[in-house]
Amino acid sequence: MTTTEHQAKPVKKLTLKFFEGPDAPAEEDMYKCVHCGFCLQACPTYIQTGLETESPRGRIALMKAVNEKRVGLSPQVFKHWDLCIQCRACEAVCPSGVPYGNLIEKTMVQVERHRKRSWLGRRLTNLILNNILTDQTKLTALVGTARLYQQSGLQSVVRKTKLLKLVPKGLFDMEQSMPYIPQPFFAANGQTVHSFGEPRATVALLSGCFMPLFHGPQMRAVERVLSRNGVTIKVPAGQVCCGAIHSHVGDLEKSRQFARQNIDTFLASNVDAVVIASAGCGTRMKEYAHLLKDDPEYAEKAAEFSAMVKDIHEFLVDLPLIPPQGQLDYTVTYQDSCHLSHTQRITSQPRQLLNSIPGIKFVEMRDSTRCCGAGGTYTITQPDFSRRLLDRKMDDIRTTGANVIATANPGCVIQIDYGTKRADMPLQVKYVTDLLDESYRKEPRKKAAWKEGLEPGSEWEQREELRAKWEERGTDRRHQIGKH
Ligand code: SF4
Ligand code: SF4
Repeated sequence: MTTTEHQAKPVKKLTLKFFEGPDAPAEEDMYKCVHCGFCLQACPTYIQTGLETESPRGRIALMKAVNEKRVGLSPQVFKHWDLCIQCRACEAVCPSGVPYGNLIEKTMVQVERHRKRSWLGRRLTNLILNNILTDQTKLTALVGTARLYQQSGLQSVVRKTKLLKLVPKGLFDMEQSMPYIPQPFFAANGQTVHSFGEPRATVALLSGCFMPLFHGPQMRAVERVLSRNGVTIKVPAGQVCCGAIHSHVGDLEKSRQFARQNIDTFLASNVDAVVIASAGCGTRMKEYAHLLKDDPEYAEKAAEFSAMVKDIHEFLVDLPLIPPQGQLDYTVTYQDSCHLSHTQRITSQPRQLLNSIPGIKFVEMRDSTRCCGAGGTYTITQPDFSRRLLDRKMDDIRTTGANVIATANPGCVIQIDYGTKRADMPLQVKYVTDLLDESYRKEPRKKAAWKEGLEPGSEWEQREELRAKWEERGTDRRHQIGKH
């Protein structure tokens, strides 16, 4: 090559990308951080790695560096934000009030805007986020197919053969961690469940997207517990996913669309409160007011709506709860779901409910507020790290000697349930409301109802009793079907 040819070769210009547009992280939020480091020991990724870049302070410093155009948006930078579980433990302990949740949410919008994916990666992400997860009918069909694969015996056959060794690692991991999918699904069809006895309140219940499919029986337990406490429950048709998953992966616009539809649907149902049984969804819906604060049409309605949202545990304690009478002989520990403890700051109510159940011996777990590694799509996007956090959590659970772990979020239930299989632990994973339901169903019902002047044995109640027994038998098969 001659010198002239060499000089003629075009020099590739490096164009750096920075935060841009209305969904850029707010400067006033990031510059609240004074680098004190109080948040470091609360951060699971920092505890695990000991690296400043994997800490809240490090991640905020990176946001500032991009904001000041000292560092451009690139895959090297993204990986530190991607490793964040968005558990918001740092936000709960920060003395300067840094709203880390808002910061990382907006940062992920910027990351998604500039992330380069392969053609296949783009199509798959689009299919899952904008097609399947936005349409409950399609999601139901997909989970229904997975349930058929699991319960027809095909899963056992596939696992016994070496077929799974041929699929990509990501798919293999997903198959291995697939939770047991019980019958039947729960659905929001506009049904009303009447209170047991004189109504004390009327509420609307969020069905959600994953919980009614993976935990249908547990959703019905929620209905029974509310009904037993004198609450009439409406489950409005037209409600959609809360939008938490979309915000988690940087699609705030889709999250806003869901929020608007839910606000219209739930406000039209004319109830005293909107009750949420999933901690992650509760957080998202309590934050609709913030999410839509700049929307001239919805800002006011969103504030009204968010004020009506109650987590099921806080709602039951405030009612107050009719103490259950049925004896349960369990030693129970409790995992604080991140979105209940760090964001909604609800920690005492689930414990109060557990302690109200006769026969339960409650034992605290070390670091019960440390994330179990579930976190939105974290189990799929960061499987290795998610498992490291899970294994650590299982060690903490083991030391309590409990035979039941209670929690308050579908992601945590699925993750810890997977942990019991990995660690081969004889542990039952339940929602707090499952235990309340179990205790209520053990009550000498006619006598209790007579004492309270209530009308026992309604048609709905009898049907629910039968259904609960049937579902319990189905759930007992979990260990045989899901075991590998
Ligand atoms: S605790 Fe708050 S102010 Fe201190 S380093 Fe962490 S985020 Fe910054
Ligand atoms: S959200 Fe959780 S993982 Fe992310 S920086 Fe804060 S404490 Fe760490």
